[in-house]
Amino acid sequence: MPSLFNTPLDRLRGIGASRIKLYNRLGVNSIGDLLRFYPRTYEDWSNPCKIADAPENAACCIRAVIERVSKPARIHGNLTIFKFAASDGCDNITITFFNQRYIYQKLSDGGEFLFYGTVKKYSGYYEMSSPTVSDTNGEGIHPVYPATAGLTSRQIEAAVRQAAALLPERVNDPIPTEILEEYGLCSLDFAIRRIHFPDDFEDVGRARKRLAFEEMLILQLGMARLKRRGTREKTSYITDRDYSNEFQRLLPFRLTAAQNRAIAQCIADMKESVYPMNRLIQGDVGSGKTAVAASVCYTAIKNGMQCAFMAPTEILASQHYKSLSELLAGSGIRLALLTGSVTASKKRVIYGALESGEIDLVIGTHALISDSVVFRSLGLVITDEQHRFGVKQRAALISKGANPHIMVMSATPIPRTLALMIFGDLDLSVLDEMPPGRQKIDTCLIDSGKRNRAYNFLKKHIDSGNRCYIVCPLVEENESELESAEAYIKKLGKTVLGEYNIGLLHGKMKASDKDAVMRAFAEGKTDILVSTTVIEVGVNVPEATVMMIENADRFGLSQLHQLRGRVGRGKDKSFCILVSDNQSGNTRERLSVLCRTNDGFKIADEDLRLRGPGDFFGSRQHGLPELKVASMSSVDMIDKTQAAARKILEKDPDLRSKEHRGLYFEISRLFAKVGNTEQLQ
Ligand code: ADP
Ligand code: MG
Repeated sequence: MPSLFNTPLDRLRGIGASRIKLYNRLGVNSIGDLLRFYPRTYEDWSNPCKIADAPENAACCIRAVIERVSKPARIHGNLTIFKFAASDGCDNITITFFNQRYIYQKLSDGGEFLFYGTVKKYSGYYEMSSPTVSDTNGEGIHPVYPATAGLTSRQIEAAVRQAAALLPERVNDPIPTEILEEYGLCSLDFAIRRIHFPDDFEDVGRARKRLAFEEMLILQLGMARLKRRGTREKTSYITDRDYSNEFQRLLPFRLTAAQNRAIAQCIADMKESVYPMNRLIQGDVGSGKTAVAASVCYTAIKNGMQCAFMAPTEILASQHYKSLSELLAGSGIRLALLTGSVTASKKRVIYGALESGEIDLVIGTHALISDSVVFRSLGLVITDEQHRFGVKQRAALISKGANPHIMVMSATPIPRTLALMIFGDLDLSVLDEMPPGRQKIDTCLIDSGKRNRAYNFLKKHIDSGNRCYIVCPLVEENESELESAEAYIKKLGKTVLGEYNIGLLHGKMKASDKDAVMRAFAEGKTDILVSTTVIEVGVNVPEATVMMIENADRFGLSQLHQLRGRVGRGKDKSFCILVSDNQSGNTRERLSVLCRTNDGFKIADEDLRLRGPGDFFGSRQHGLPELKVASMSSVDMIDKTQAAARKILEKDPDLRSKEHRGLYFEISRLFAKVGNTEQLQ
């Protein structure tokens, strides 16, 4: 459709300069854009239902004959109302309109019409208010477009109808036929016509699937081409054999399908290519990323490599050391922990053992990048929570091997499409399944009127041997974090929680002080940990069973979900209490998402939907191309399009062949919107 993207909107009847401005506001600048401006949803006018069968609280279409129209009556000011009675042959309904005189003009006694709206049911009495009206030719499925002030969905629909008539008889398809067939996708021609004007909902499904695939494929191809710009050097570490089955036999549990898939993807990266693995493992807290890392290390080590695992803080490094030691117990693999607080003499021993190859896997903090650390054969570098490490730090560790394989682990559930763009240089594995038996954290939303009840709830948990977190973000701009938290603790002292040991964590503390506070809490020296800031991601305190979050509306959903993930790590049922006095419907809706689901990816998607990608990381950091249809959570689609993109690029790395001209054009178009085209040349 390239040429339609150059065709201005005023080619369409009824669209002049002022309308064009409204369309521009919707991001529609040409006829091609208009055809790619997809309906937000649909109204189903295809099967009018009987009045008595109308669903509650949902709109539907009814077909009824008008029996008696009452004259419009002025209620007050310029508000007029008119009502009429209609019948579908079985039941009667009263239909009311406000102000819409043009509808009054259209309706006449005895006429039959379609009405789309919500039927309210009272005992023996039905009512509909301000439905959309159409004559009986209007059956079918109607698109509903994201409208803007001054431009209704119906007006957009009419324009799209005209635009669709301008489509050539056969629309050129950017996706090669071979790929369409392989993935069971419909043609662009079908998709573009039916996404707007479907015959049935099956059409909508097929069209959406195809368009989402196209969008993801184009994004993947664009990203892959960006990736290729960085010259990748061959790795010196060859993996001949996959030892993951052997590793599984060491474990007391069975790995989940998602874990096995991620492990297989990593090992394939290390085995099948001369280039090093460069992969992001993304999984919600508790999804078992450490076991995946352990398995991949196992195979790497059995193939003669050394592995380094870098965590952002001492406490996380010690926890990883502990978990990995347990997971690899009985394997003969030699591990070491190297952090800043290891004594100088011990450090020297570790340095020696790394250089001689006596240590297979070293886990540590930034201490790993010290010049004194020399490896014999560093083949695999794993970093946890990569956003905490500067590029330089990671590069410093990587440079200690000859192009080692790289694995990055992230517990931040970033919507997949975003992850793909942000970590564009990494392949992605997602752990979208929890190990069996993982308990759900019950979450509730309260206002501050119920705070004392919440404190009593915390007290009960502490009295039965557990611990609690309270997060209280900074509220007053002119207050320091410390003042704010100290004021909170002072108030807490006057409540039922006053008798317990309370620890305090705030953002301005030195890392070593933070570690000390966390450790005291982990060891049970404090019962309650009050924090102004995000508690260390990944810290594991199994006895912590309640997370109370003050001013919860200050956080993004994903952040709240991360915070909530600090509890529910032991055997006892855990809870999260969100406190917010913000009564706005939007905020309540947002927070209630957390009460409904424990799935971090769903939450991230919802967060993205409600706040938009620009807001997703608190500040707009990335010029992300806008995606229209690609479902943010379809892992399957990402895998498929990734495979398809690979196949296309293998055949035609520069996308110069005639067959790929359409794809090339679409990639340039998508990336042009974020000013990224020059990178694609
Ligand atoms: P993550 O790092 O993703 O938050 P972990 O790797 O720390 O999760 O795993 C959380 C806990 O679940 C650990 O105690 C781990 O031993 C256990 N675990 C991991 N995988 C499985 C599995 N497939 N079945 C049962 N338990 C598992
Ligand atoms: Mg972990």
